[in-house]
Amino acid sequence: MDFHDSPEEAAFRKEVRAFVAAEAPKPDTDARPGMQGARERNKAWTKKLADKGWVAPAWPKEYGGADMSVMEQFIFNSELAEARAPRIGGIATAFVGPTLIVHGTDEQKEKFLPGILSGEDVWCQGYSEPGAGSDLASLQTRAVRDGDDFVVNGQKIWTSGGHIAKWMILLTRTDVDAPKHRGITYFVADMKAPGVSVRPLVNMAGTHEFNEVFFEDVRIPASHVIGEENRGWYLAQTTLSFERSNIGGAVGARQNVEDYIKFAKEEPTSTLRNNAALKAELMDRFIEAGVAGVLSLKIVSIQANEGIAPGHEASVAKLYGTELNQRIQRTGLKMVGMYGQLNGKTEGVDVPMNGRITYAYLRSIANTIEGGTSEIQRNIIATRGLGLPRG
Ligand SMILES: Cc1cc2nc3c(=O)[nH]c(=O)nc-3n(C[C@H](O)[C@H](O)[C@H](O)COP(=O)(O)OP(=O)(O)OC[C@H]3O[C@@H](n4cnc5c(N)ncnc54)[C@H](O)[C@@H]3O)c2cc1C
Repeated sequence: MDFHDSPEEAAFRKEVRAFVAAEAPKPDTDARPGMQGARERNKAWTKKLADKGWVAPAWPKEYGGADMSVMEQFIFNSELAEARAPRIGGIATAFVGPTLIVHGTDEQKEKFLPGILSGEDVWCQGYSEPGAGSDLASLQTRAVRDGDDFVVNGQKIWTSGGHIAKWMILLTRTDVDAPKHRGITYFVADMKAPGVSVRPLVNMAGTHEFNEVFFEDVRIPASHVIGEENRGWYLAQTTLSFERSNIGGAVGARQNVEDYIKFAKEEPTSTLRNNAALKAELMDRFIEAGVAGVLSLKIVSIQANEGIAPGHEASVAKLYGTELNQRIQRTGLKMVGMYGQLNGKTEGVDVPMNGRITYAYLRSIANTIEGGTSEIQRNIIATRGLGLPRG
């Protein structure tokens, strides 16, 4: 594939670059960004993207999206990443909107899509449970029909943004006798409904991102079932022609290594001086960030040329990118030596890079769990990619 821009793509890139340069907020240097803080800071940026019609690049125009081609999305995402501009929308634009567009009723689209497009409504994903993560189809949260409602009881866990979300996409078991993939129903749950309680979980990096969410006799109207009852498992796989290269992650990895190289050159506290082994390690990370970029190009070429969704290739990029981030942060931690014990700003101590390296190291541990663990990605690559037998 020729990755040079066509004249139309070059013009589009120029437009995005100029827009981002004029409107995006300055990159955030806070070592430990909180979700709510980031949301407040990005409010004006979200509004500008919404006014421009760029909150949902992949959605069709008739639903308020930008209807960008896969290559246009790739350019858009690359430009935002290069400028370190915040990504907006999260799961709401990536999963929720596409699922509603494909499977929702007209009423549901009217009710839920505008809040996503304006960036006002935060959504969370109620899939994982204490006994169902990698094996998600084992989920036990029950929904039982009662008149015009369903009554829901159970528990979700690791719910990112559950404490600030207005709505949750919720997977529940509605038929206990059916094979496990077939008795699951997909709901939209109101996070403020009576009987919903949210308990914070603070991660090892010290930030509150995810939660436990409990459902006690929560009534959800039947009009909030998305698609058919008991077909929720299949809905949960819906995506539109959504660019899945994770180019933002690859660019972010490169920028991260570049920041550490700059730090190594300029900071007297850096242990890199006279440490040839550590310098070599940093160069390895720089090269590996380049490899992550190539894996992103491979995915976008599959999507743009063959018009198919990437399968095991997306798992390769996820696995490589998340394990790379952990290696980058381990290298970073070695660079700051004993300062690596200080997570964030510390009174009376001039902590290198505001403790950003330590925070990034601690936060990176979750990368190989969230969105499907490394072992699960390896299983996908082995069976679907290499055709090896299940074992
Ligand atoms: C930061 C973060 C944010 C998250 N946000 C959300 C969210 O918003 N909503 C949500 O629903 N969930 C969320 N999750 C949950 C996440 O999807 C699960 O943690 C993940 O799918 C793994 O499930 P589990 O934790 O139950 O681990 P388990 O599935 O119990 O796995 C435990 C270990 O066994 C391994 N393992 C399991 N099955 C196999 C197998 N078949 N072959 C080989 N090894 C295997 C795993 O790789 C892992 O090492 C989040 C998780 C994190 C860390």
